[in-house]
Amino acid sequence: MPDTVLDTVVVGAGLAGLAATRDLHGAGQRVRVLDKGRGVSGRAATRRARGTGGQDARLDHGARFFTVRDGRTRDLVAEGLKAGWLREWTRGFARWEDGHVRAARPDGHPRYAPPEGMNALGKALADGLDVLTGVTVTGLERHGDVWRVLDASGVVAQARTVLLNVPAPQLPPLLAGLDVPVPDVAYDPAWAAGIVLTADLNAEWPALELRGHPVLEWIAREHTKRPAGHPPALMLHATAGWSSANLERTPEEVLPELLDAARDVLGGLPQIESAFAHRWRYATPTRRAVGAGHWDADLRVGICGDGFTPDEHGPRVEAALLSGWWLAGQATT
Ligand SMILES: Cc1cc2nc3c(=O)[nH]c(=O)nc-3n(C[C@H](O)[C@H](O)[C@H](O)COP(=O)(O)OP(=O)(O)OC[C@H]3O[C@@H](n4cnc5c(N)ncnc54)[C@H](O)[C@@H]3O)c2cc1C
Repeated sequence: MPDTVLDTVVVGAGLAGLAATRDLHGAGQRVRVLDKGRGVSGRAATRRARGTGGQDARLDHGARFFTVRDGRTRDLVAEGLKAGWLREWTRGFARWEDGHVRAARPDGHPRYAPPEGMNALGKALADGLDVLTGVTVTGLERHGDVWRVLDASGVVAQARTVLLNVPAPQLPPLLAGLDVPVPDVAYDPAWAAGIVLTADLNAEWPALELRGHPVLEWIAREHTKRPAGHPPALMLHATAGWSSANLERTPEEVLPELLDAARDVLGGLPQIESAFAHRWRYATPTRRAVGAGHWDADLRVGICGDGFTPDEHGPRVEAALLSGWWLAGQATT
């Protein structure tokens, strides 16, 4: 068991957990963030796939881009634009409806996307923090005023405060036996497919929002987010209905159907160099908990993430950031 008792352990290095960790670190706390994944950033995710000529493509199979309304997120955007890890991608998307594509009409709202991929946002937040990946937290125990954080091998960390950035349906085993309510949050799943092509589509749009298609709701030309010379690549996102109906199938089974759906919309596809499908079991909250997060000052345990409602807008990147910052504010009082 590690001897050191940290000030705070954050479980989940999604954007909410990283935002919280960053603030606690800035406030002088000894804070460590643990994640079960190989890297940070959670659903703001980027995957590499083989492209032509040996150059890998980077595809955002989770969050596609983000928008900002709050002053603090605007500051983060300004910081990213200045440092170069962030760029404005577009101000509008083309629309597919009833078999027709309507050209993109700029609506004045900047959509931001890091040129290296959406996980660059998480990486930027994680810079300089104490991050441990590849750790799946399985439980929490309270001994006096110290929390023990457990994985399958035993105690992985001890801290006076624990913050959880874990989707609500995955919280019950962590909260078993503790007097901490599981937030009332429900999610829709999403299937996503990435395709690297040998040639670009004959299209002008950065992405297509689909209305009324039975399978797909989104097709992005990923390379329009990337530096020049990036292999042509498409990201497909399936509708919540199709994703729910096909939830328990394998990536190998759904991939051909997602590719066929793209061919149907686009009137064919150029030659495919590589492709993958990815399932998000908990993609988008459809029912969210009231408030910016959960905080229990007596137990010193908190919960944050896009399942909460830190603002009146949707469950999205900015909501996750705002929830994480809010929770860090509670945990430093
Ligand atoms: C397909 C898709 C498209 C999207 N498109 C957009 C978009 O265009 N714009 C937008 O703003 N938002 C979009 N979103 C939503 C956005 O990605 C999320 O709102 C945001 O990333 C949520 O961040 P979070 O920190 O709340 O949660 P998460 O990113 O889910 O972070 C939770 C973290 O906890 C870790 N974890 C879970 N359980 C454990 C455990 N037991 N032990 C250790 N670690 C654990 C996970 O690995 C993960 O890293 C999209 C999401 C999906 C899936």
